[in-house]
Amino acid sequence: MILIDGKKEAALLRAKLKEEVINLKAKYNKVPGLTVILIGNLTPSQIYVRNKEKSANEVGLKSEVIKYPDNIDENIVLEKIKELNTNTAVSGILVQLPLPKHIDKQKVIETIDPLKDVDGFHPMNVGNLSSGYQSSVPCTPLGCYLLIKKIEPDLSGKKAVIIGRSNLNGKPMTQLLLKENCTVTITHSKTRNLKAECLEADIIVAAVGIPELVKGDWVKKDAIVIDVGINKTDKGIVGDVAFDEVSKNAKALTPVPGGVGPMTIACLLKNTIECFKRSQI
Ligand code: NAP
Repeated sequence: MILIDGKKEAALLRAKLKEEVINLKAKYNKVPGLTVILIGNLTPSQIYVRNKEKSANEVGLKSEVIKYPDNIDENIVLEKIKELNTNTAVSGILVQLPLPKHIDKQKVIETIDPLKDVDGFHPMNVGNLSSGYQSSVPCTPLGCYLLIKKIEPDLSGKKAVIIGRSNLNGKPMTQLLLKENCTVTITHSKTRNLKAECLEADIIVAAVGIPELVKGDWVKKDAIVIDVGINKTDKGIVGDVAFDEVSKNAKALTPVPGGVGPMTIACLLKNTIECFKRSQI
């Protein structure tokens, strides 16, 4: 079984991006800039943002974090986004989710210039992705896609089963694999026989949020299994895949932690650089 080392792949990607930033600086005399807006003081969000800032600095991006208290007026946030939209030093804007209840998430997402939308959540990017046009792609599914391609460069005709249909993970994952000519089945909480669906799959991507949902006997020999889940349990952080059981069957499997997670942040940096390059045309 191939243990898909997300940490290593993310480090390789960051090294490539670092080199690209050096070349972009030589060509344009400036570097891509990432601005993150963090509202409130939720610990996981603070940790994510700190890691994003650290990784951005590591590859040579200009990075800035704007912090607001969780009772901030929605209009102040929207006005700040509009200001960042027109700031040419800012290539990418990310508003860390979740947001406090009084702030309309969709309004925030739609205020970000789609060309600076490094999370790929703006409806224009969502539409472009599903239409097969150039777009920012949400970072986690993009990371999963790169890991899958590393194991199996030719995905044409493969049967993929995606577990979970969120806008963040399942839906964009479906689009990425469809574009690779996979036959994609997207499953969710109302799917009748998830085990039977999984047993058909050459590729399984689990993005559910249920600890160890995917069992060993759900997975066909030689399947590639990507575990997006991050679940806190008594025995620590586990994924949506029963790792010990599935590792006996699968051809390749991502661990949790150390699989998809590190790729998510590396893909955010990649998206920021792509936004910068598109803005120079
Ligand atoms: P989400 O928005 O809660 O969506 C979960 C999806 O799973 C829904 O579509 C839901 O179906 C489906 N589902 C629930 N129970 C199911 C069942 N028994 N069988 C099949 N499908 C079922 O979650 P998310 O934001 O996509 O996140 C999923 C997981 O990934 C979480 O553990 C999260 O922490 C993790 N995550 C990891 C990263 C990373 O960087 N590694 C990034 C983001 C999220 P319905 O639509 O029918 O409700």
